[in-house]
Amino acid sequence: MDFSFNEEQELFRKSVREFCTKNIATRASEIDEKGEIPHEVLESMAGFGLLGITISEEYGGSGADFTTAAIVAGEIARADISMATAVYYLVGAGWGFLMNRYGTRIAKEEILPDVTTGKKFLGIASTEASGGSDIASISTTMEKRNERLVINGAKSFISGVREATRYGGGYVTVVKTDPQLSHKGLSLCYMPVKDTSGVTTSIFKQMGREGISTGTIDINNVEVPEHYLIGEWNSGFYYAMEGFNCARTLVAAACIGAAEKALESGIEYIKERHAFGAPLAKYEGMQFQLADDYTRLESARLLVYKAAWMLDRMYVEDRISQNDVNKAVACAKLVAPTTAFDIIKDVLTWYGAYGYTREAGLERGLRGVYSYIIGAEGAQNIMKLIIGREILGKEFAPH
Ligand SMILES: Cc1cc2nc3c(=O)[nH]c(=O)nc-3n(C[C@H](O)[C@H](O)[C@H](O)COP(=O)(O)OP(=O)(O)OC[C@H]3O[C@@H](n4cnc5c(N)ncnc54)[C@H](O)[C@@H]3O)c2cc1C
Repeated sequence: MDFSFNEEQELFRKSVREFCTKNIATRASEIDEKGEIPHEVLESMAGFGLLGITISEEYGGSGADFTTAAIVAGEIARADISMATAVYYLVGAGWGFLMNRYGTRIAKEEILPDVTTGKKFLGIASTEASGGSDIASISTTMEKRNERLVINGAKSFISGVREATRYGGGYVTVVKTDPQLSHKGLSLCYMPVKDTSGVTTSIFKQMGREGISTGTIDINNVEVPEHYLIGEWNSGFYYAMEGFNCARTLVAAACIGAAEKALESGIEYIKERHAFGAPLAKYEGMQFQLADDYTRLESARLLVYKAAWMLDRMYVEDRISQNDVNKAVACAKLVAPTTAFDIIKDVLTWYGAYGYTREAGLERGLRGVYSYIIGAEGAQNIMKLIIGREILGKEFAPH
């Protein structure tokens, strides 16, 4: 048992922090205010080897494990607590890993090098306007026609729609391939969105994460080659659950990074700020809250890195079951966003009126982290359902 990063991981973490401090933190308010991540920031991330880091080396990635990928997610979110840059990173790393694992060689050769060099965006298109939690009920269909795959339907609340249309790229898309079946009738395929005939998109105005868009994708007779199928026909549900485990671990790691940064700045602030003749940090009312926040952050961090460790053990050593990973990841994704939200809120309050200003930058974190409480990469109640199912067994799963 070891609770610290090894020397290599610690060196890597430090170098990523240095990179993020220089290249992302300096642009964080601009990213939120202008509503986009400057392309040179993405290019520099790619140049530093951060984009698609879990993708194997033959496609330009580093073949990094999830502990390493989680370290990166945390460092990026520290630098941009709005979570926008972390989202761009983590969908590519999480779903890129899945595509790397189950995509066809020809599709991987065509798509993944552009993801790792930052030329193209890669995301996940699962949710539909009728609901996101009940994936088995999606109604976007895919059928084989003349050696092509034809997709019809609509996806909604999808991250990166503007980026995918601007830079190119597309989505690991969840589709129904046997409408008679529930989750066993789902498949996954890659769907490009830029200049794709039959694709139309629109963008939502959101409450946060301004630097990355969220939008809709209408899909009308979109044809993609057969080699864009990811994994086996009608087995998409299982691959999607695997992809969600990867992405959720990185989401949770990003939340930890944002919370850590907020708490550190709060600690500095209460040591400096005086009220009633003493630094705020002298008052027990402050110290008790700090102790609670610190303890919650430590607990969440342990859950997050345990989830990453378990994912790595499952993929590398094949000695941990998918069920145990499901449970560990759901625990991390359940706890980390709420912990981060509460810590950022506390620090914002310690800042007094200054905390309420945009300049303080903390409200960006609140708005961003809340997306993960609402449900990006899976709603909180769904994490509880997964934990319950894994503890009690499928026979106790609610209908
Ligand atoms: C900013 C943002 C970005 C997103 N990006 C993407 C993306 O890139 N790709 C993508 O596919 N999706 C994306 N989503 C959608 C996200 O995956 C969904 O929000 C999530 O899956 C929940 O689906 P829903 O919003 O339709 O809520 P619903 O499924 O309608 O659920 C509504 C509420 O009911 C609760 N609930 C649902 N079922 C149960 C149950 N059985 N028991 C108890 N409570 C339940 C949920 O917890 C939730 O609070 C994004 C969402 C946000 C907010």
